[in-house]
Amino acid sequence: MCPVIIDRSKHTVSRKNIAPEALKVLYRLKETGFHAYLAGGSVRDLLLGRTPKDFDVATDAHPNQVKGLFRNCRLIGRRFRLAHVFFHNTIIEVSTFRARLTAETGEQGPHFKQRDGLILRDNVFGTPEEDAWRRDFTVNALFYNIADYSVIDYVDGLKDLDARLLRVIGDPAVRFAEDPVRMIRAIRFACSCGLTIEESARKAMLELRDKVALASRERLYDEFLKLAFCGQAEKVARAMLEYDMFAVMFPEMASWMKEPGNESRQTWFFKALRQVDIWKKAGLRPDEPLLWALIFGEYHESLAEEMIKQGYRPAEALVQAVLNHMLNHESRVQIPKKIAHETIRIMAMQPLFARTTGAKPKRLSARPSFEHAFVYFKFSAGLKGRNKELVEWWTAQLKGGSAGNSE
Ligand code: ATP
Ligand code: MG
Repeated sequence: MCPVIIDRSKHTVSRKNIAPEALKVLYRLKETGFHAYLAGGSVRDLLLGRTPKDFDVATDAHPNQVKGLFRNCRLIGRRFRLAHVFFHNTIIEVSTFRARLTAETGEQGPHFKQRDGLILRDNVFGTPEEDAWRRDFTVNALFYNIADYSVIDYVDGLKDLDARLLRVIGDPAVRFAEDPVRMIRAIRFACSCGLTIEESARKAMLELRDKVALASRERLYDEFLKLAFCGQAEKVARAMLEYDMFAVMFPEMASWMKEPGNESRQTWFFKALRQVDIWKKAGLRPDEPLLWALIFGEYHESLAEEMIKQGYRPAEALVQAVLNHMLNHESRVQIPKKIAHETIRIMAMQPLFARTTGAKPKRLSARPSFEHAFVYFKFSAGLKGRNKELVEWWTAQLKGGSAGNSE
């Protein structure tokens, strides 16, 4: 199929907005005689007038040929070799055009998995057209060609981009079954790029959402972080509930939020993610343990309340509640132990903010994760309309750098 080629004068992708490191890689490949395209999310973002998060390059040069061209290059990936070209503070990912079967985890068919590296490599490389078709959404499959500064479109992605439509390449049911994580990606791109999910994809998501649970627990963890830090996390949270996708990832908390008569339980969840968006706008990113503490906060507190009724002390109850929930072996999302333990520390400190006499405040403020714990304390106080005086007391103490010197 012939692609639509949009001449430089007819699109808005400008080299001014492309990282110089990416341009360097593109030009060197081109000058050596290879195709060199900017690909994926960076072309989409540039056409939308957004700042790309990173710049990916697609080429017909094989990984070893890429490595030969750049001193600062490392090959990664076992199934599909990718070249990472390292610069002072950025990495440009260079991938060789791929054939359809290699979509991240979409390698279907036993013959494919059994092959050794060499044969696999021969089979996975493809043409630019194949490379475009194996991608997930039409708006993610556009190329920017450094040879003539044109945009190359095999999949009608530009039309969809103009219509602000997120359309799956191929049959949504097939592509989502191949790799269910694409459904979560759909939510992320729809929310972060302001796109509407095309109707047949929407239907397929509602039908197939349970398949998300088939993705590896580690990958779901990474994907959730991408959702949380995409800059539109509150919108994402609403969409995750609308598609009932949050329930697939975190079933216990989702059913707690859905208990009839308790609609207000969603408010905390949305506000936590709104806070993450506010930080992101200010160029800040909360550490993961704090992120989880905030997202799960009200749920963990309610679990702890039940335990307190059974006789646990508050701090102990919080520790146990967070432990049971975040480190549950049956959970769908694998939260790294180290992160979960820090979230536990943040929560276990909460009851201790009530102690403002003697050396206790000083000891508390010297504990690891104290700053995170105080962020949580302030956030929950604001949301729940509680502990106003304590927040003021602690804020004054910490400003003066003298927590605990009040006596
Ligand atoms: P971001 O702005 O978050 O980086 P992105 O579109 O660049 O978004 P990446 O995860 O960096 O997303 O992937 C780069 C490109 O690789 C995508 O634009 C898409 O074309 C392709 N891709 C990534 N994951 C998949 C997948 N699961 N299935 C098919 N294609 C994928
Ligand atoms: Mg990217």
